Amino acid sequence: MKYKFEEPIHGTIEKTKYQCSIEWRNGKFIADEPASIGGEDTGPDPFSLLLSSLASCKLITLRMYIDKKGWDVDKMALNVNLYQEKSGDLISTTIDCDLLFLCPVTDEQKLKLLEIAKECPVSKILQGDLKVRVFAFREEEVKTVKYANDKITVLWKPDFCQHSTRCWSQLPQVFKPTMKKWIDPNGAPPGRIQEQVAKCPSGALIFLSNIEKKSTEISLDN
Ligand code: SF4
Repeated sequence: MKYKFEEPIHGTIEKTKYQCSIEWRNGKFIADEPASIGGEDTGPDPFSLLLSSLASCKLITLRMYIDKKGWDVDKMALNVNLYQEKSGDLISTTIDCDLLFLCPVTDEQKLKLLEIAKECPVSKILQGDLKVRVFAFREEEVKTVKYANDKITVLWKPDFCQHSTRCWSQLPQVFKPTMKKWIDPNGAPPGRIQEQVAKCPSGALIFLSNIEKKSTEISLDN
């Protein structure tokens, strides 16, 4: 079994209703809920994200096909919406996609492109053998390995590590995957290590400053 992405989509939520920060391999965006259900509408809601995924997949698939054929079709649009019907405990969902050609196309091209649009990869996922599995970890149940010096502690949670290579490719003086003790807290200044830890896409790395801890201990002793 091999995941499609080296780095998972990483979502976090805090107390602001209902803003989620979603990180993908090359950036970050906000998802939210509309004001009608208590959010602030600062980003697309989960249903809009699902439909956006489908719309972009169909349009990209069409563009790839058109380019391969060398057809002169320069602009298309797609409207996507869904409705749901409840019957007892069962909810059935129908997604409708309306493809609009914003340039001249022949009837033959239109039929072929409709066929191609139906078969985009995201449609295949949604209509195929789809399972959604959810695993839960409580902080204290997660194995954590500690690497420390007198200034900092770096915690690493191997079960969360997605082996994205980001830490060791960007800061090889500290992150050394071929070594048994693979994180060397003496390999770079604390600030630089903290900066790198913040870039871990999976939350496997945590940075703690021992300087603040020490000064608290000193003031408590006093
Ligand atoms: S610990 Fe390093 S290799 Fe693992 S997910 Fe974080 S950045 Fe990637």
